[in-house]
Amino acid sequence: MTDNATNLLGFDLDGLVAFCQQLGEKRFRAIQLYRWIHQRGVADFGLMTDLAKSLRDKLAGCAKVEALRVLTEQRSADGTIKWLFDVGAGDAVEAVFIPEDDRATLCISSQAGCAVGCRFCSTGHQGFSRNLSTAEIVAQLWFAEHQLRRERQRDERVISNIVMMGMGEPLQNYSALVPALKTFLDDHAYGLSRRRVTVSTSGVVPMIERLQQDCPVALAVSLHAPSDLLRDPLVPLNRKYPIAELLDACRAYLAAAPRDFITFEYCMLDGVNDSVEQARELVRLLKGKVPCKINLIPFNPFPASGLTCSPRERVQAFAEVLIQAGIVTTVRKTRGDDIDAACGQLAGEVQDRTNASQRMTRAPIVLHRPQRAGS
Ligand code: SAH
Ligand code: SF4
Repeated sequence: MTDNATNLLGFDLDGLVAFCQQLGEKRFRAIQLYRWIHQRGVADFGLMTDLAKSLRDKLAGCAKVEALRVLTEQRSADGTIKWLFDVGAGDAVEAVFIPEDDRATLCISSQAGCAVGCRFCSTGHQGFSRNLSTAEIVAQLWFAEHQLRRERQRDERVISNIVMMGMGEPLQNYSALVPALKTFLDDHAYGLSRRRVTVSTSGVVPMIERLQQDCPVALAVSLHAPSDLLRDPLVPLNRKYPIAELLDACRAYLAAAPRDFITFEYCMLDGVNDSVEQARELVRLLKGKVPCKINLIPFNPFPASGLTCSPRERVQAFAEVLIQAGIVTTVRKTRGDDIDAACGQLAGEVQDRTNASQRMTRAPIVLHRPQRAGS
């Protein structure tokens, strides 16, 4: 393997076909290779026994299947696992595995840091360092899925759902995101249905429109407020793409898939956006306008935010107004509390290269120090 070898985790199937064609190989060879990598988790071309020796040698000279280096792994008492991955130059990103009775979800990062800068988000407070590549996005799933299969000594799929809700704004890293989503969906790779792959966005309107064309997976929109007046200071991107435009984009997104719905995420902030009157305003905004579900997220506090979580009774009262109005509403359970794995606590470690905003680095409790995966 040479130093400038191409990491094949960065290709969707069409990309891998094109890469193989450059090596003089046919499409079905690319499919075999893609299956070895993603379905069987094999990184060593020498082990891909049904590929011709000549192809294996060619690949060994110009390509690699390279995982991210795991810096730390933390396991919560409730089964949640959080990995911190080194992405070089002092940046680290996190992925979180969340097992439940009927599903197992992997929460994946799309950027080191985030440029949107939401007030209640610790990633946002770190500032932006850089976009992850497709290979770095896919590597999070590739590593987690095959690591868990090895541990459990099973061949069937472990991870059933993906949410792009880790660090970063996925729709501000669009060109790397789409091939990664395609690999998540591809039957020759992870074969997840598009309803089981969710992109969560703070509302990058033009990219919502493009996602509908390119790869219409489930969409979650981080709303957090029923009016522009309130949303502007919480989600600064709202000044560029206000709520009316955002909801238009949501409606257009669903036009391609009329039986679907948008999930609106709403982080409950004590005394900020959690009153019964604000719940009614939210009903007026959404009811009959956009097919949706609302997911109320208890705020996970961190000191620099200056915010606190709404008391449980206020969350319940807020949910009650929505439910009475006929809007399907869930209150998210917090998972992995003991390892800071809940939403918005994914601080990672990021070198902010855009501004001097305060950095929120945590010192994770290291329970395991695993080796680089995939060899
Ligand atoms: N950038 C995307 C996806 C990553 S954030 C987005 O904003 O949608 C994933 C979810 O976690 C978003 O709904 C976000 O609003 C929420 N979140 C961020 N910080 C949080 C915090 N401190 N407590 C609870 N939820 C938070
Ligand atoms: Fe970025 Fe999402 Fe955090 Fe906002 S909530 S700063 S968009 S990661």
